[in-house]
Amino acid sequence: MTARILVVDDVPANVKLLEARLLAEYFEVLTAYNGAEALEACENGRVDVVLLDVMMPDMDGFEVCRRLKADAATQHIPVVMVTALDQVSDRVRGLEAGADDFLTKPVNDLQLMTRVKSLVRLKTLTDELRLRAATTRNIGIEELLSRRSATAEVAARVLLVDERAASAERVGKMLRGRCELSVSTDPNEAFFRAADGDFDCVIVSTAFSDYDPLRLCSQLRTLDRTRFVPIMLLADEGEEARLVRGLDLGVNDYLVRPIDQHELIARLTTQVRRKRYNDHLRASVAQTIEMAVTDGLTGLHNRRYLDSHLATLFERARNRGRPLSLMITDIDRFKSINDTFGHDVGDEVLREFATRLRKNVRGIDLACRMGGEEFVVVMPDTDGQIAGKVAERIRAQIADTPFAVGEDGQTIPVTVSVGVTAMMQGADTVEAMLKRADIALYEAKNGGRNRVVAAAA
Ligand code: GH3
Ligand code: MG
Ligand code: MG
Repeated sequence: MTARILVVDDVPANVKLLEARLLAEYFEVLTAYNGAEALEACENGRVDVVLLDVMMPDMDGFEVCRRLKADAATQHIPVVMVTALDQVSDRVRGLEAGADDFLTKPVNDLQLMTRVKSLVRLKTLTDELRLRAATTRNIGIEELLSRRSATAEVAARVLLVDERAASAERVGKMLRGRCELSVSTDPNEAFFRAADGDFDCVIVSTAFSDYDPLRLCSQLRTLDRTRFVPIMLLADEGEEARLVRGLDLGVNDYLVRPIDQHELIARLTTQVRRKRYNDHLRASVAQTIEMAVTDGLTGLHNRRYLDSHLATLFERARNRGRPLSLMITDIDRFKSINDTFGHDVGDEVLREFATRLRKNVRGIDLACRMGGEEFVVVMPDTDGQIAGKVAERIRAQIADTPFAVGEDGQTIPVTVSVGVTAMMQGADTVEAMLKRADIALYEAKNGGRNRVVAAAA
């Protein structure tokens, strides 16, 4: 894992110390000796994680952190506060300033590495999502980024897994009114609940009498449905080794008993905010990808998708020595449907046509709208003879039942012409297949329409 870490401290010896340790782990290291330099480095450079000293003259670490988190350009960079004092009040102040984590001086080596690595991992994911979202442009990423409010509109849904009723009760009291809390005393039951429910965070107590709590954490990380849910551990003092292993497994954060209410709330808020931010990015990306490859009118795939996916299907069939066929369909005299009944009715006919097409092909077939009233169906594992039968079935399904349009039960007779072709042995290509199907379609039109023509081999 390579990443660029910015070390900020007004004491050069401290900077050197951290720098040396990070370099030894092959991280790239940038250094800054005051707040202003730190801000500049973050704005200019590609910084993946900031290790930020709290006590500095001029601008202290809290202020630097606050400014980083207030700027949309630097907000997503994880900040680890490095504090000399192990004061809970300092931690809370840092978390309120938007810090993602803490390290206490003198910095423990294992903790330093696990924390930095886990934040780098998270940052990599966020960067990827930001990049994809940004390239699609129309997502309103600035709006997303500016949504800084720690308490989002919807209450966070939190699952607390704790075998000991008294301890669960205590934590529950701390979180009362702060989130929608579910409690589970059985880790197996908790796992199923987490998989079923849409939780914003799972808090796992490590104090089980006869169960390894890290098992639950690793199960949650393995399952698709819970892979991205933040996990926090509530540990006892002296459980350092377990925490380090937990962080390596993908646990996001932890608290050590006795638990401070403010710290718990602040850390939980950080996790929930981060999850929602990433969820939102992920959804936007998925939606944009979906939109980019889907035809808006019919819901079928569009030409862009066909272009990329047909090549894949072709290669796959080639490599496996399997047949592959495709057909191009073109509605007959569609222009006159538009002219007679209007464009809206034309659209309705297109939608109904797409529905019938979809019903008459298999799930693994690829049905696309090429444009206008022209559709393509790609049929993997299908030879020319069968493809011809499928095409004929589609032709009949269109011609035999007139299309019902409008409110008043009006029906319009519609027919379609189809050109079919199969992949040939030897030097065939996607372009050649489309060309053959197109010529066959042209023949079908010339031959009187409402018919299927198979391309000559
Ligand atoms: P042929 O039997 O030779 O295929 O005749 P045709 O009228 O179907 O063919 P032509 O290509 O001349 O006309 C296709 C028409 O489809 C022209 C265009 O206005 C119309 N069209 C293209 N896209 C849409 C659409 O999204 N909605 C509607 N309603 N009409 C469309
Ligand atoms: Mg037509
Ligand atoms: Mg046409």
